Amino acid sequence: MKRREFCLTAVAAGVAATIPGCSRAPSGSNTAGTIDAITGAGEEVSIEQAAVTELAESLNGTLYLPDNDGYDAVRKIWNGMHDKRPAMVVQCSGADDVVDAVNFARDHNMLVAIRGGGHSLPGKSTCDGGMMIDLSQMHSADVDVEARTARIDGGALLGHLDNAAMAHGMLTTTGIVSHTGVGGFTLGGGVGRVDRKFGLAIDNLLGATIVTAAGDVVQASESENPDLFWAIRGGGGNFGVATEFLFQLHPFNPTVYGGTVTAPLSKELLSFYAEFAEEAPDAANIEPNFVVAEDGTRIMEIEVVWAGDHAEGEKAFAPLLAFDGIQGALGPTSYHEIQTGADTFLGHGRQYYLKSGFITELTPEAIEIIVENLNADQPPGAWMQHMGGRTSRVAPDATAFSHRNAMVNFGIMMITDDPAETEAGIANVRQFYNDLAPHMTGFYTNLNDDTERKTWGNYGENYPRLVEIKNQYDPTNLFRLNANIKPTV
Ligand SMILES: Cc1cc2nc3c(=O)[nH]c(=O)nc-3n(C[C@H](O)[C@H](O)[C@H](O)COP(=O)(O)OP(=O)(O)OC[C@H]3O[C@@H](n4cnc5c(N)ncnc54)[C@H](O)[C@@H]3O)c2cc1C
Repeated sequence: MKRREFCLTAVAAGVAATIPGCSRAPSGSNTAGTIDAITGAGEEVSIEQAAVTELAESLNGTLYLPDNDGYDAVRKIWNGMHDKRPAMVVQCSGADDVVDAVNFARDHNMLVAIRGGGHSLPGKSTCDGGMMIDLSQMHSADVDVEARTARIDGGALLGHLDNAAMAHGMLTTTGIVSHTGVGGFTLGGGVGRVDRKFGLAIDNLLGATIVTAAGDVVQASESENPDLFWAIRGGGGNFGVATEFLFQLHPFNPTVYGGTVTAPLSKELLSFYAEFAEEAPDAANIEPNFVVAEDGTRIMEIEVVWAGDHAEGEKAFAPLLAFDGIQGALGPTSYHEIQTGADTFLGHGRQYYLKSGFITELTPEAIEIIVENLNADQPPGAWMQHMGGRTSRVAPDATAFSHRNAMVNFGIMMITDDPAETEAGIANVRQFYNDLAPHMTGFYTNLNDDTERKTWGNYGENYPRLVEIKNQYDPTNLFRLNANIKPTV
């Protein structure tokens, strides 16, 4: 029996109010028989419960109101810092549900949050009082082995994409934690362990299906709506809800040459890294993670992935292994294990706060600031994602993502399970970031909040074109919970 049929039967039986998605008299309604919600502009709005019931009945997926069983589970996102309560969560099972949700939110002037994998660090995939469009149940993936492509749903996780592609000995660029969403990751750019070899996720994106603010389902590719295709490659969730993506895959040996070596933190090692990483071949991905060892000393854990011939990798990394103080060894390593290695540590529900920025050159001044901050009493965590290679050979205006000259993305992060520690942790992150910001050339919209854009003109010369496309596809700024491109019409 289809869910909708089941719901109608259940409603008739008078038990609907306890079944998410089947609420004839929605349990979140007030005594006036309306649902209280918030508009995009932050004003209060009342929605007739009959309209909500009609929406619930139209879905193949599930509509959750605050009093429904399961609401607390579905409203949660990865970062425990953002404990918000949407007026409703529409858990979609396909593009038709997304169209219904978008039409409803637009017609009732509701604030909208789109949840893919739920990994938004600044918490943009949830909201208080609005509608969360939850894509988490949309995660199927199909690989076309001959065409070397993967089609994947808009709510899938990076692990779904990695697993589908690797089952056929292929790969595309995904990020460093497998429970991150393909949706937000891709629409913002998509940096990973093989982007130097294959380009960013957006450089491997062949097309996407988008539900626009008008509720239309449109294709975006080089041949269909090319402006929209340009905008969604770096412009984030500003232009609509992506219900499907099509990626180019590449043949890939799942056993890479790599691993992690460690050494005491020093200016000398960072200076060596600056030169070594800058000149490394595209196959090399070298990512330092700055940590405090159990004995209190500061160390660099340097993670290596060589996406190429192992003997060549061994030769390429001989200078790193010979550097004074380096401990550990590199060798044949499972790429899947590397891709999932941080999944538990960076798990759901902890308190996270992050600031980050692109660095085009690790100058002695920048290195001085990094080492000084990491030697502080209680330094925040920090890491670098190695960029360049193929990513840097794409023109800055070829896609909305313009930071093609970045050598690394430098992240500074607080992680704690104790809410009492967050204030001090956030202050430490900000202190470090403020010191280093003069050496950064912009920020990754997928990681930072959008407040800095005014200062840095983060999209640079691509911004006016982004505004034009926003005006065309989302003139009322329905999709505003993102690094927002404000429409001007
Ligand atoms: C632990 C962790 C590791 C990360 N590692 C990397 C990494 O290696 N490389 C990297 O590039 N980034 C990385 N990121 C950043 C990541 O790319 C962003 O947080 C991204 O927004 C996550 O996507 P999501 O779908 O999980 O997020 P969500 O929180 O679900 O969504 C974030 C925003 O993306 C938009 N969005 C999401 N899905 C869709 C969709 N289908 N259609 C339209 N809009 C959508 C919405 O605007 C939403 O507000 C990491 C983040 C975390 C928390």
